[in-house]
Amino acid sequence: MQQYLLFAIVGLGFGCIYAAISMGVVITYRGTGIINFATGAMAMWGAYVFDELNRTGDLVFPVAIIPHKVSLGDGVGSVPFALALVLAVLSCSLIGLLVHFLVFRPLRRAPILARVVASVGVLLAIQALIVMQFTSTPRAVAPILPNEPVDFAGISFSRDRLWLTGVVIVIAVAMWAWFRFTRLGLATRASAENERAIGLARFSPQVLAGSTWVLSSTVVGFIVILTSPTVILNPLTYVLAIVPALAAALIGRLSSIAVTVTAALALGMVQSIVVFQTTKAWWPEWAKAGLSDALPFVVIVIALFVVGDSLPSRGAVESDPLPEVYRPKMRTAVIAPVVIGAGVVATLTSGSYRFGIITSMIVTIIMLSLVVLTGLVGQISLAQAGIAGTAGFALSKLGDAAGIPFPISPLLAALVATVFGVLIGIPALRIRGAQLAVVTLAGAVALEKFIFRNTQLAEAAGNPIADPTLFGLDMGIREGRTIARVEFAILVLLVVTVCSILVGNLARSATGRRFLAVRSNERAGASVGISIANTKLLAFGIASFLAGVGGAFLGYSRGQLSADSFTVMVGLSFLAFAYLGGITTVSGAIIAGTFAPLGIGFVILDRALDIGTAYQILAGIGLVLTAIFNPEGIAGANRKNFDKMRAGLAARAAAKAAPVDGDDAAGAGTVGPEAVPTAAAPAPRATQRPSFDDAPVVLAINELTVRYGGLKAVDDASLRVREGEIVGLIGPNGAGKTTMIDALTGFIPSEGRIEFCGAELTTEQPYQRARLGLSRTWQSLELFGDLSVRENVQVADERATVGSVLADFVKPARPVDLTRVDSALDLVGLAGDADVRPGDLPLGRQKLVGVARALASSPRVMLADEPAAGLDTAESRALGREIIDIAEGGVSILLVDHDMGLVLEVCDYIYVLDFGQIIAEGTAADIRANEAVIDAYLGSEVHT
Ligand code: ATP
Repeated sequence: MQQYLLFAIVGLGFGCIYAAISMGVVITYRGTGIINFATGAMAMWGAYVFDELNRTGDLVFPVAIIPHKVSLGDGVGSVPFALALVLAVLSCSLIGLLVHFLVFRPLRRAPILARVVASVGVLLAIQALIVMQFTSTPRAVAPILPNEPVDFAGISFSRDRLWLTGVVIVIAVAMWAWFRFTRLGLATRASAENERAIGLARFSPQVLAGSTWVLSSTVVGFIVILTSPTVILNPLTYVLAIVPALAAALIGRLSSIAVTVTAALALGMVQSIVVFQTTKAWWPEWAKAGLSDALPFVVIVIALFVVGDSLPSRGAVESDPLPEVYRPKMRTAVIAPVVIGAGVVATLTSGSYRFGIITSMIVTIIMLSLVVLTGLVGQISLAQAGIAGTAGFALSKLGDAAGIPFPISPLLAALVATVFGVLIGIPALRIRGAQLAVVTLAGAVALEKFIFRNTQLAEAAGNPIADPTLFGLDMGIREGRTIARVEFAILVLLVVTVCSILVGNLARSATGRRFLAVRSNERAGASVGISIANTKLLAFGIASFLAGVGGAFLGYSRGQLSADSFTVMVGLSFLAFAYLGGITTVSGAIIAGTFAPLGIGFVILDRALDIGTAYQILAGIGLVLTAIFNPEGIAGANRKNFDKMRAGLAARAAAKAAPVDGDDAAGAGTVGPEAVPTAAAPAPRATQRPSFDDAPVVLAINELTVRYGGLKAVDDASLRVREGEIVGLIGPNGAGKTTMIDALTGFIPSEGRIEFCGAELTTEQPYQRARLGLSRTWQSLELFGDLSVRENVQVADERATVGSVLADFVKPARPVDLTRVDSALDLVGLAGDADVRPGDLPLGRQKLVGVARALASSPRVMLADEPAAGLDTAESRALGREIIDIAEGGVSILLVDHDMGLVLEVCDYIYVLDFGQIIAEGTAADIRANEAVIDAYLGSEVHT
């Protein structure tokens, strides 16, 4: 028991570090909505500054190249302790302020991906700056707090553990009180939830965000400096403490400082006790190393599974769109010269230059995995190096050692990586955005510490990987004094070419469309029959396979599995370079591979400028700048410049060809504005529409109830929709109409009975209901912004099979039957706009895209949620005509709208909802005459 107590108290030291960093994460998140992966790195700067002041009296500034230090010690060495502490803490505050002004303020409206990438950029830059200014030699920091031994209950431990814990608790209470009781603290919390409201209350949201950054970096810096004598300080010490700190912060739901700090202290203690357990004789040898590092991953996965939601809810915060995706055709005329050029250069070079080219090509394969996962599907993964590493690791076990020949062994190794990747991706089914980055980061740490650095699993002496041979030909990288043979370079070129073509094809295929649909809008994707879970897991699988292929070849290129090639920091730099190159395109992956560390770009720069450590700083800064100014990366910028140049040349050529003057008017006539939909009034229905009394019921809702906490948004509502019928559902704002559609389509749980085409719907997911024929449109558009109008509609019509996904890699543009897509577009008059993006259309026509999309899946019933909102009278009447046409095609419609003219005109039967209850039903004439309806809803509208 005493031993347990001793280890628990020893673990308090790490617990305090986790508590400090997790507190910083929570404060920053509460004040700015940003999960800052660089929290540990920023505070570590303070620890180094403090130590340097104590050792040499030099105050080091967070800058590179320009003069970066002043001597305060008058040449006698250290400065007074208190002064050193104050200056070191202030340097952390300064970093917080700089990070706010230079990085996150410009990114305040950027998508989550950009913010995650930027915080990774800050992490990399600061870590590299530390190596540059303080070297990576480990340091033992002189004691700060009293550290004489304490004897208690038969054990003896250092007093500083108690001091540290006390300091952490006092500061945690102070932070809690600050958020709870001070005006500024309250305003900071509120501003994270609603910037505009706080703006109205005369607080500047940006001042609040800036003060949050300063507060959190000061607090974390102060505690981290105090903890620095309890660890050996090296440039990674605090950087990766972010993982257990994030685990604690997630347990505190990124909001409760008390829960977070308690969890952090407990995690430190539990980790220490786990380490103690692993010293026992009965503990399996293979599970000894790295287990405590894997623990936060388990905690994070559990915490996120408990906290996360499988689909974003209505009203989830929207931000700017993700970097634009460009999906060019894989043209031989473009690919062949690039491949031949690369082959020639690889043949003509030698030594480290050829090795650089090989490394670039291999890293490109791993970058392609990020293009698929992050670029196309929007899932942020910081674990791609780790996943690549599992393949390298598997190859060292599966290759010659197990008698499996090339190329089967790397393929098998990549399949092993696929399994790991899909496992790491499972949390993505419930979580997204920065939280997914957290899980994958924790997964990468677990892989590195528990597997790659586990001497029981990976031999300490190295895990040799035999050279590949093909048809008796030695394709190995080394021979004698040659460090990079051309045979290996050509082999890698072949592999990277095939992978690039496959990814390029995938992006343009039906699978690519589904990926982009999920990236744009998961809820809308589910509503058109896309299984979000399968799509994400497929993406994780493909990406992991690619990373695995890259990892296997990285293994071949090194001759043995080296954990150093697949560390967490390598994984972070992969994301950094993928984003820099352009994370949405194959060309971006190639650029990223070119400039990645040890790639050819790096080799050339290093030879020319002896750039060394500065490279990582430049990469970090470049990453931040890319996130702010150029989210499509270098490839995107190149493409835009190229497009501009082409447009310029075309304009010049056109100007030359054009007649000197005249003809303008004739031209103007042909390019006039698109015809606004003509206001063809719906024909008087009574004469045209049949009676539906005897038609079979397709949708029967019985006593449907939906609760939001104590509120019954839908209360015991029953209604029927018959085959071919247009049924209206009207009611005042907040009556529960959208909630009813959400419940029918499976987006929120409900009580009661929903019968669709004779069968009861119970646990079916939204995508399954859509496939059964229950489709919907959205009040708030929810279109897929990255796809053209036609593709928006097409995704609703396409269904994935194993065969179709495999074929998508090879032949993305197979002839498919587009009859349903075309007729849906025709029906709503969008055939002429099929190739533009929905965002380029006026609102009215965007609404019609939603209608066409809902129609493309051949629904039995379409639930149309306020399709006329935002339309003018003419557009609304045209829509009415289209709704009647759709119903005449056999689709039943439940129409929710506030446009009474439209509803009363086109609907065969109408239900009126008020406070979640059906208060009236009948034909348009019945509803017009119903006093209760007039009182509750129609009011003067009908009397006039
Ligand atoms: P509108 O015509 O304005 O779209 P509606 O009839 O569609 O209104 P709903 O949006 O379904 O009404 O809202 C019904 C009730 O449920 C309202 O009181 C609303 O505030 C509440 N509500 C809707 N969504 C949520 C939610 N996610 N959490 C809690 N309450 C909600």
